[in-house]
Amino acid sequence: MSAERDAMSGGRFPWPGGATAAVVLTFDVDAESGVLWEFPDTARRLGIMSHQAYGPRVGLPRLLRILARHGARATFFVPGFTAEAHPEAVRGIVDAGHEVAHHGYVHEIVTELSPEDEVAVLERGSEVLERVTGVRPRGWRAPMWELNYRTPALLAAHGFVYDSSLMDADVPYRLATGPESGAATLVEIPPHWSLDDGEQYAWLPGIWDTAVIEGPDKLLRMWEMDFEATLAEGGCLVLTMHPFLSGRPARAAAFERLLERIAGTPGVWVATATEVADHVDALAPKPVFHEPPPIAASDLARRISPASPTDVPKEDA
Ligand SMILES: [Zn+2]
Repeated sequence: MSAERDAMSGGRFPWPGGATAAVVLTFDVDAESGVLWEFPDTARRLGIMSHQAYGPRVGLPRLLRILARHGARATFFVPGFTAEAHPEAVRGIVDAGHEVAHHGYVHEIVTELSPEDEVAVLERGSEVLERVTGVRPRGWRAPMWELNYRTPALLAAHGFVYDSSLMDADVPYRLATGPESGAATLVEIPPHWSLDDGEQYAWLPGIWDTAVIEGPDKLLRMWEMDFEATLAEGGCLVLTMHPFLSGRPARAAAFERLLERIAGTPGVWVATATEVADHVDALAPKPVFHEPPPIAASDLARRISPASPTDVPKEDA
């Protein structure tokens, strides 16, 4: 990919209008869905449900006001259940001129699903988003950024134009859904865990409590450095925020400071994911096809369950 990109652009990614770099602001509106799939018991826990509902009720409107103040448009990845539970909030995203894209029905981790269930969840999520917003989603982001090797072909077969889940590049690329030339393609718009607010802010007792809550000043400094490095390299900064986390006042204020800087920097293309996907698709770089690692199953069969570490023989330790 990088060789293709270099050949195409003389070493710099060809952003439209001569832009130096791109910034894609994304928000995963996980709300209640973000815990219900992994922790079904939370469905009867009002405190936890209220923590998640803060996103669509308070955080999302605050973040939409910030985006409007700076004339920035963003992409919101919305689970179908979030759209059903908070239809006015989700319609508000589209009414404000932003993009709504697919993020499962109830934030299912697709590597835990049968092939049939993966199809059913994809179709259900699209149907709900189209019913609530009037717009069929063109993009998908895997909950927890976990995909099956079959997932890209499934997305293409259902008319999706892009995915934003894979982490093997700094800039978007064309993703082939099969090894043969002429296989359907998607555009991949790569995110990263370090560019996700969840790793700094998410904290719920018994659910996400292995780390402390970090301050917005830390995240702001981290992401300022990422923005500076992206500018220097002409890359694509894909930020991922969650309204139930980044929608809280001090965190939203930190995001606004970053956005002021991004929007005030000449030559930065602030685009929705679907705009980036259309741009990359038109460039038609050589697609990349991902195959499972060529490791023999027998080479992995010796793995000992981490649930019983005391069974690890001393000589293998
Ligand atoms: Zn999510």
